[in-house]
Amino acid sequence: MSPKAAKTRKIIATTSLAGCFGCHMSLLDIDERLFDLIELVEFNKSPFDDIKTFTRECDIGLVEGGCCNDENVHVLTEFRKHCKTLVAFGECALMGGLPALRNTIPLRECLEEAYLHGPTVAGRNPQGLIPSDPDIPKILNRVYPCHEVVKIDYFLPGCPPSADLIWDALVALVTGQELEPQYRTFKFD
Ligand code: SF4
Repeated sequence: MSPKAAKTRKIIATTSLAGCFGCHMSLLDIDERLFDLIELVEFNKSPFDDIKTFTRECDIGLVEGGCCNDENVHVLTEFRKHCKTLVAFGECALMGGLPALRNTIPLRECLEEAYLHGPTVAGRNPQGLIPSDPDIPKILNRVYPCHEVVKIDYFLPGCPPSADLIWDALVALVTGQELEPQYRTFKFD
């Protein structure tokens, strides 16, 4: 990578909403290409560098996970505001993924199973309390994929998307080229 490329590094932000961090781990699986990546991009808000709030506008935002609570909606909305290009990566971001399995069950039933009747809590919550502290993110009636909350520019499928697909997409976005996904890069474990 040339020093010129290093001077024009794109600014990138990443976040995990209702996800398992597997998509972030897959990004790290680009292995030695990480050295090329840090010449191409500079990370801003991201779990990778633990920057918790945006310190500047970003070129690319990568979002893992859908929205299961109001904090997820807030973070996703902030990403849309601060990132010129927003990419949803992984099935949880694209379609809700595993967390969305609860979407066919009324929220009240989910909470009662989690806090009152489930095998790990039965008999341990004699007061029948379901947490409702205002400091706890408010759970939404269902899990929403990212595109139902904000405009998403690109979608990278997979659970998680393969490291090769993430790498190809990032290179295409950073260099302004068309992404032509190769079938071999699609991965669903
Ligand atoms: Fe985890 Fe798969 Fe969801 Fe990514 S898409 S956050 S790997 S469950």
